[in-house]
Amino acid sequence: MADVTSTWTEPSNTATALLLLGRGSDPASERGVDCPGDLPAPSDPDLVARATAAKAALGDRVFVLGHHYQRDEVIQFADVTGDSFKLAQQAAARPDAEFIVFCGVHFMAESADILTTPSQRVILPDLAAGCSMADMAVLGQVQTAWEHFEDLGIAGDIVPVTYMNSSADIKGFVGRNKGVVCTSSNAKRALDWSFEQGSKVFFLPDQHLGRNTAVLEMGFSLDDCVLWDPHKPQGGLTDEQLRDAKMILWRGHCSVHGRFTLDSVNEVRERVPGVNVLVHPECRHEVVQAADHVGSTEYIIRALDAAPAGSSWAVGTELNLVRRMALAHPDKQIMFLDRTVCYCSTMNRIDLPHLVWTLEELVAGRVPNVITVDKETAADARVGLDQMLALP
Ligand code: SF4
Repeated sequence: MADVTSTWTEPSNTATALLLLGRGSDPASERGVDCPGDLPAPSDPDLVARATAAKAALGDRVFVLGHHYQRDEVIQFADVTGDSFKLAQQAAARPDAEFIVFCGVHFMAESADILTTPSQRVILPDLAAGCSMADMAVLGQVQTAWEHFEDLGIAGDIVPVTYMNSSADIKGFVGRNKGVVCTSSNAKRALDWSFEQGSKVFFLPDQHLGRNTAVLEMGFSLDDCVLWDPHKPQGGLTDEQLRDAKMILWRGHCSVHGRFTLDSVNEVRERVPGVNVLVHPECRHEVVQAADHVGSTEYIIRALDAAPAGSSWAVGTELNLVRRMALAHPDKQIMFLDRTVCYCSTMNRIDLPHLVWTLEELVAGRVPNVITVDKETAADARVGLDQMLALP
């Protein structure tokens, strides 16, 4: 392969960086889910050969999905790469594959299980690969909020909308209550549809995607949005605030995209004259407002692919993807929006040793780490997902 010159600089190997990479552990924040088998050592020089051989032995029985935020060492074995919704669709389009190995996080594997046939099994190579945003909305908390809306007499006016990045339980809640699931690509269409069904939206779990879409794309004011904090009595809101609100936002956020600040934008503009700031709508409102371009992961990839040679881009999304795009486009200056490391620690749980272990277990006739959504929840969640697919 020809040498590729790149403008990319690796972030520093600090202790924090290594922890975020999933090398090391933080008992206070991780779920404490151990791998039930013998993982190969990360230093094993045969890992690539072992994964290649196991995948070849499984042939069409296995289909490997790789989210854009996964490590390169894993992405090289993906049959398809994409965002969470595209990957769930791809899984559904492969009814002949016995095993779907999902290199992503837990809620994505759940969505794939909901959309695939009952005989297919969806496997998450590391059960500790959750999503901190999805974990910020727990069904019991959401039901408590809904009961409060019922007591206030406003539940009938509210359409619940959940971002794809939520648990199957929350998608089920939304389906049961005549709402819709959305992605960062179709959030505006989902909100347009919802405001035709009711006069208010209860948006879960990402406050930033909800606020950014409502204010920047639909013309609502910040005062039309209120924040429901599940850790405060009555969400920390008065009855009047809830009655007046158009958007009731759940207090959840992405711990990766939420790190970018207005200072990051100002600093890069000073440092790189003419830079284009391109961010994901999971970023804070003031960051999105200050950016030049805003869009989903797939939008970010298309924008960077189409950018002219010589242009400069500061990108506010997950670091694995930004790094991959920088290496793929050495003729453009593509950099991370923030100076500090910002991997998604749970995405990074899926590494090559876990993938090798998973594939070799399948070759040996054992099926590890199967993700299953119970039938009732899956049926309800499917209502919200189907409503999303039917959006005009
Ligand atoms: S990047 Fe954010 S939303 Fe995506 S899996 Fe990680 S924590 Fe969850």
